[in-house]
Amino acid sequence: MLSSQFRLTYTMILHVLRVSEIRVEDMMRHSFLEFDALEAQADNKEKAKTLASELQTMEDVDCYLCNIDLKEYYSGCKFLTEARRKFQNILLTHPTAIKHLAPGRVIIVKNSKHNSALGVVLKSPSGMKKKFVTSLVICEENSNASGDDKQNGPSNESHVQPIKKEALFHPEGPCGHVIEDLEAEDILGITHNKITIKPDAIIDNYKKRKLPRFSQDPPGQSTVLATQELLRLTEANPEGLETVDAVKDFHIRDMELVRQYKDMQNLDVTIGQFDCLGCSQFDDHFATFSKKMKMFEDQEHFNFLSCDDSLQLIPEYHQRIQVLQELGHISNKKTLELKGRVACEMNIHELVITELVFRNILSPLEPGEIAALLSCTVFQDRRCNEPDLTETLKQGVEKIKAIAQEIGEIQYNCQVKLPPSEFVEQYRFGLTEVVYQWAKGMVS
Ligand SMILES: [Zn+2]
Repeated sequence: MLSSQFRLTYTMILHVLRVSEIRVEDMMRHSFLEFDALEAQADNKEKAKTLASELQTMEDVDCYLCNIDLKEYYSGCKFLTEARRKFQNILLTHPTAIKHLAPGRVIIVKNSKHNSALGVVLKSPSGMKKKFVTSLVICEENSNASGDDKQNGPSNESHVQPIKKEALFHPEGPCGHVIEDLEAEDILGITHNKITIKPDAIIDNYKKRKLPRFSQDPPGQSTVLATQELLRLTEANPEGLETVDAVKDFHIRDMELVRQYKDMQNLDVTIGQFDCLGCSQFDDHFATFSKKMKMFEDQEHFNFLSCDDSLQLIPEYHQRIQVLQELGHISNKKTLELKGRVACEMNIHELVITELVFRNILSPLEPGEIAALLSCTVFQDRRCNEPDLTETLKQGVEKIKAIAQEIGEIQYNCQVKLPPSEFVEQYRFGLTEVVYQWAKGMVS
């Protein structure tokens, strides 16, 4: 997002509206110039343009099967990927889910290293911000030497991965295992299955075998038993295991979440039925299409960043316009009224001072009293003794506070975040008495 030291004031808006050729959007944009953000905006425009021309030169996937529904399939995968990620994150912060993820619980793991491989929880979710679940996951025996090289999982290069109806991972050679700290996004599903394991023995044994001295040792008995049990479960359920239902089992009631979850479940079932999946060059065609879609989405993104809507001050601008209309500074057509013209002449506290002028609050007063009361607009000190004021000044203070309260409430109703009480509080009368005494001395 763009950021700028620029602050939108009512006077600024009124000035701009008075000189109607300037658009407020332009004004905001120019102020960003000082803070290098205009450059970023131009940069974004340039990026969008480059992408647009690259997109034009890219060839379309033209294939009998992919023409049928590759586009819909891609959208489905995109939705499913995002929805899965979202629900996986909900699951891992949900108290019921955390209870489910006790040691011994069987989970389905899918990330860049594992493709729907079974794992077993060794340690419940921990970690302050990001929750980790320490688990043992089965893999090909020969791939676990380093523990972090990619094996049968999909690569992360393309932002949307093709999702097929996947069987559980089954090693081609001897079954190996790794112990990893998994994040929410790695856990495709929490199954209803539990196996009996000795988690501490497994972790200790794994740590020991990480030491060079013991690296050639065979895995300990607890580890072997856990691995065998996961392999047995895989072989007994090649199509997958039933998993916990976020909505039913965790009683999620948010309508929007429930709807998304249902959509996700439906898509989970139908995602393997798209015609394009039958294409003999499916992987290539999907990769080409996905790359093109990514560029297209990026182009949209950069276009958005380089247009006026992205200026984060726009909402604030609209709020302030509404306040000015409520107070009668500008008409509904955003032309300046007399009040607005007066406010234009003030540099600070334009709303309160204009109200004081228009409500005739200052004119019956002596110059010394006016100066004393207006000192509230410049005095900053919070800690101050209650000033000893004349009756007229006391009334003046109350009137200013009432006006400030009124304006504060109008602002608040127009979605300006500042609470009315804080708006009132900025007017401090600690100097009123001193200024009054001083002004009296000047006059007499
Ligand atoms: Zn194809």
